[in-house]
Formats: sequence, C-alpha cells, structure tokens
Amino acid sequence: MAKTDFGPPHYSTLIPDIIKENYGKWLYHEQIRPGVLKHVSETGAELYTVRVGSPRLASIDFIREICEIADKYSKGHLRFTSRHNIEFLLDDKEMVEPLLEELARRGLPVGGTGHSVSNIVHTQGWVHCHSAATDASGLVKSLMDGLYDYFVENKLPNMVRIAVACCLNMCGAVHCSDIAIVGIHRKPPRIDHEKLHKVCEIPSVIQSCPTGAIKPNPKLKSVEVNPDKCMYCGNCYTVCPAMPIADPENDGVAIFVGGKVSNARTAPKFSRLAIPYLPNNPPRWTETVEAVKHLLEVYAENALPGERYGEWIERIGWERFFKLTGLPFTEKHIDDFIFAPTTFRTTTQFNW
Ligand code: SF4
Ligand code: SF4
Repeated sequence: MAKTDFGPPHYSTLIPDIIKENYGKWLYHEQIRPGVLKHVSETGAELYTVRVGSPRLASIDFIREICEIADKYSKGHLRFTSRHNIEFLLDDKEMVEPLLEELARRGLPVGGTGHSVSNIVHTQGWVHCHSAATDASGLVKSLMDGLYDYFVENKLPNMVRIAVACCLNMCGAVHCSDIAIVGIHRKPPRIDHEKLHKVCEIPSVIQSCPTGAIKPNPKLKSVEVNPDKCMYCGNCYTVCPAMPIADPENDGVAIFVGGKVSNARTAPKFSRLAIPYLPNNPPRWTETVEAVKHLLEVYAENALPGERYGEWIERIGWERFFKLTGLPFTEKHIDDFIFAPTTFRTTTQFNW
C-alpha cells in the first residue's frame, strides 16, 4: 500500500512498549484510589493509569504543560479519553506518587474513575454550530466546576455519566446518559419569506422536517410551518438560513435522567425527561448546575450501593423519583406526541 501523509498514524506506533508487549494479555484492572488504575497482565506486568480532568477547551500552553509532565513521568505517553480526560500511562510504580504530587502542585484534578462523575461528554455551542439552543462548552465548564468533589472522590452509589448536547440533533451521547442535558428551542422557526425563495430549495426544506410540519406556500413562493407538529428541532434551519430558530428569550435546557449504555445487570436504557425547562443563564448557568447537583444528592442519599441512576428509578418507580427529588410532574412529562406513540408514558393512568 502506498504511504501517504493522510490520516493519523497507526495507533500501534504510538502506544507504550508495555501495552504492545502485553497486547491481548491483560487480565484485570483495579482502582487504587480515585483517578488511579492498576492494570495487571498475565505476564505479571503492571500498567498504572492516572486520570486527570481537563478543561476541554485547551490552550497550546496547557498542551505543552501536560506534554512536559508526560515526558517527566510516563516516557512521553499520554492519551485523551472520549470524555476529555487526560490519562498518563506509567509502567513504573515508583513514578506514580511523584506524578500525583506534581499534578497536585499544578492544581490538576485527579479522578473520574470508579463511583464518580467523570468529565462530561458534550457537543459544541453558540460559537461553533448554527442550531445551538445553549452553549455546551460554557455549560459543561460551569457544571464540572460545580461537580468537582464528585470527580475527585468516589461518593456515589455507582458511576454517573453526564452528557450535554446543545440542540435536539444531539451529536453527543445524550439519549442514554445517567444525567443528560439537552439545549431546547421552544418556538417554531421564523420564516423570512422575502429571503426564502432566493436562498433555499423549497423541496429540500420540506423534506428536512422529521415531523412533516412544513408545507409549501405557493402564494409567497415560500413555506409555512404547522406549529402543532413542530418539535423545534432546527433541522429546517440547517438546510435553509431563511428559517432561523435561535431565540435568546425562550431557548434553554431540559434535563433527562436514568439512561445508560452498559449491559451490566440490566439492559441499556434511554434517558427520560425529569426537568422540562431551565433558562440559559450564562456565564455560570446557576439554575442548571444547582439542578444537577440536587439530582446527584438525592441519588446518593437513596440509591443502593452499585445501582446506576436509572436502575434506582426503576426500582422505586418514577412517581417516587418525582416525590424524592421534589420536581414537579407536569403535562410536559406526558409524551402524547402522535408521531412517537411508543416512547415514555402514553397513558394518563399514573399511580399517584
Ligand atoms: Fe450543533 Fe446540535 Fe450538535 Fe450542538 S448538538 S453541535 S447545536 S448539531
Ligand atoms: Fe420541522 Fe424541526 Fe423545522 Fe419544526 S424546527 S419545522 S420540526 S424541521
């Protein structure tokens, strides 16, 4: 095969020797303390992973700083996890304590393993995407500052995976997280009839709507939207800039709970609606940070050891979940959307 400079190099050229030598031979791993894992191979080799929370939006200075640390303690090896954690991979046990001391001196938090809140997987936001209803990057920074103790300690019944998506398109894992925060628009798109026929292909605009809410308006050479069918997803704006949907007054976030990807003990679960709307309140998103902390506190107080968020709710029932959290149960929690008859509750027969 011809060698080119396209694409990343093959991963096997970059991994530490200890991983190459023990490839396929790892027996188990254990947590020594929050943020530090020991992996043991059948050959007796031991690899230590030290996980550090990153601010996610990293400056070049910060990248240089962590490379300098990796050169000093882990033979230049580090990796980023999908949750933006930095992991230093060490084959020398004696280097673990000095590395932890240096990280503490530099104010870099070690944690995110075991029964903790790991860093938040998230999408982009106001600066980077056209359809954002909230700013995932800014919100996540505020959340992780507020949840610092849950990152560095193991004080929860099980791991809690949090995800943030800045619109319903949710190009993050929001559909199946213990706590999922989704940016929502709450009004249909506004139509600029003057502009629409000049910049948009009307058949494509009609096709872009997942609920069939858009139909042609031949008189105006434009389209119209049925507000009863619109779910404010912003898909039409993606194909047609004459249908803006962002709204500083009405956009905000909804919080879902109880999802998981894991197949352990119980089947994977979708996250379900807990809080239908909280306002965008940059730069610190106080209401959302407080709501997530509260959801964690109630879970920590009431779940059995080892229960994931959704497993706990399934055991006690959703009615009790709303009572324990003190969250109001509203008509927004009843999914009567005729195009999704099989999701969540489609009946009014509740066990209150
Ligand atoms: Fe864009 Fe939506 Fe993805 Fe956010 S979640 S980056 S707004 S597509
Ligand atoms: Fe359809 Fe979504 Fe546009 Fe509403 S926002 S009209 S549901 S594409």
